[in-house]
Amino acid sequence: MNQNIRLGRIFGIPVGVNWSVLVIFFLLTWELAELVLPGDHPHDAAAIYWVVGIVTTVLFFASLLAHEVSHAVVAKRNGIGVRRITLWLFGGVSELESDALTPGADFRIAVVGPVTSFVLAGVYGALVLLLHQFGGGEGVLVSALGWLAWINLLLGGFNLMPAAPLDGGRVLRAALWRRSGDRVRAATSAAHAGEVFAYILVVLGILEFLTVGLIGLWFVFLGWFLLSAARAEENAVVMRSSLADVHVRDIMTQDPTTFASTTTLADLVDNQLHRYRFSSYPLVGPDGQLKGLTTMGRIRHVPANLRQTTRLIDTACPLSDVPVGAPSEPIPDLLQRMQASPDGRAFVVDDTGRLVGIVSPSDIARFVQLSMLRSQGRTARRN
Ligand SMILES: [Zn+2]
Repeated sequence: MNQNIRLGRIFGIPVGVNWSVLVIFFLLTWELAELVLPGDHPHDAAAIYWVVGIVTTVLFFASLLAHEVSHAVVAKRNGIGVRRITLWLFGGVSELESDALTPGADFRIAVVGPVTSFVLAGVYGALVLLLHQFGGGEGVLVSALGWLAWINLLLGGFNLMPAAPLDGGRVLRAALWRRSGDRVRAATSAAHAGEVFAYILVVLGILEFLTVGLIGLWFVFLGWFLLSAARAEENAVVMRSSLADVHVRDIMTQDPTTFASTTTLADLVDNQLHRYRFSSYPLVGPDGQLKGLTTMGRIRHVPANLRQTTRLIDTACPLSDVPVGAPSEPIPDLLQRMQASPDGRAFVVDDTGRLVGIVSPSDIARFVQLSMLRSQGRTARRN
């Protein structure tokens, strides 16, 4: 998920929003200002509906953020780093750096989100009751607080559906994991449940679209998104389990071709590149020191008329953004760091700090294909 607007940090975790949040922000504000609030109190000024609508929508996103921050805080407390929190079209995403080590931690990290939403629903509900108790319980303010209570209740309830990647799916995974002791099977089952739930959501969304109206379309998109997320999760689990005993040195491209960081793009493209078939190249300084990483994608982004004056280092991925692994490291650990890096590639460095290899997505894909062919071969020999 792209973080287009950075909001800052909470507990040291970068928090941002994706552009798609603006769509939901506008729709919710519009729904409140044009439908919900005038429906409850028809005689106020339009400006009041819109001001209260905007404030209420901001509070809604704050509730959503509280839900995600609670996941992140519990993850950190269980020893798992949190890369960032992003709000977008379908809610919030907390990107964790690794999986929970125990079913208990998996359960706690997942369940705290819906619990936070329920607590917030309770707080907003209590405020409504208080206002009723002490008079002034008839205003637009009460409607807005009541709406916040309901939407947090819905948010907590929806997220508790036992379907990965929703929180309820993670709770299901933790429960199955605890019972069987097999994390891979538990995660696969939770992802399957997620796929079934997503199909149901798409079908209901289509029915709603045909009978009620546009809101059904949103459910179709949500279902479609959950379906692809559940499938991606299943693939990731299967791939990680097939790579579990593999080390970086088994996969890396050894002794990669390097270029001087001051080489111009024109020199590279016209005189050197035809000799090599790789898609990424480490850049080195005059002393052989690593400087950064360039890729065909980065080179392609520079207009042809600027190639004469652009050096490789000018468009390179800086060294600090390229994950570094050791030859003896298990590949799943490095993969997780690679996924978080801008180019999805890693340097492999030996004990002395010398560059001995590079790992790219095609190295991984080639290895996975090869191990699939080998396992087919084994099956064929058995038949
Ligand atoms: Zn959640």
